Amino acid sequence: MENNIVWLNHKVTPEDRANIKNQKPCMLWLTGLSGSGKSTIANALESYLNQYGFHTVLLDGDNLRFGLNKDLGFSPEDRSENIRRIGEVGKLFVEAGVIVIASLISPFLKDRKMVRDLFSENEFIEVYISTPLGVCESRDPKGLYKKARIGEIPNFTGIGSPYEEPVNPEIKIDTNIYDVPSSIEMIVSELKAKAILPSKGK
Ligand code: ADP
Repeated sequence: MENNIVWLNHKVTPEDRANIKNQKPCMLWLTGLSGSGKSTIANALESYLNQYGFHTVLLDGDNLRFGLNKDLGFSPEDRSENIRRIGEVGKLFVEAGVIVIASLISPFLKDRKMVRDLFSENEFIEVYISTPLGVCESRDPKGLYKKARIGEIPNFTGIGSPYEEPVNPEIKIDTNIYDVPSSIEMIVSELKAKAILPSKGK
């Protein structure tokens, strides 16, 4: 079967698609512990970009488990597959000219590298939300740490399963130090530095 598949070259290129939107697409990958602030920042960032007329999509790890990834659990293999699929979906959106914001724990280095390798150098921006475990656990917005501590959630990242810190993330934000508006400012200034957003006007 595989041998009979032939790659089809498209007439309209990713650049053509991005050009009619007047924007440079990219994949912003927010990684960090549960409760670190990924979804909060992803939402605020998307609102900011949308307000200025940029075309975005938000790929939220939890939400995608209700559909695309509903057959997957939290074993290391399933987490890898979850990340692979979100990476591939993100790539399709980037090829469509869209600014993609992905928000998922993605605890393992090799899985994040696999996704990074799908993109060209300036297209992939890893945003490490580095809020310390103790702070995430005290926030416990979904009550998951409490459940994990009493053994109700095996493999919970930070408790029963490791989180491997990014080595060279493009952006690192500890939300115990920076509030949401400052976090958005940090991301936006990196996007401007990479010429993904225009440096003036927006
Ligand atoms: P995650 O998506 O990483 O699991 P959430 O965004 O769902 O995390 O939850 C983070 C919690 O921390 C929210 O209740 C949010 O209101 C709170 N919080 C407090 N300070 C910040 C901050 N500076 N940035 C982001 N979230 C914060």
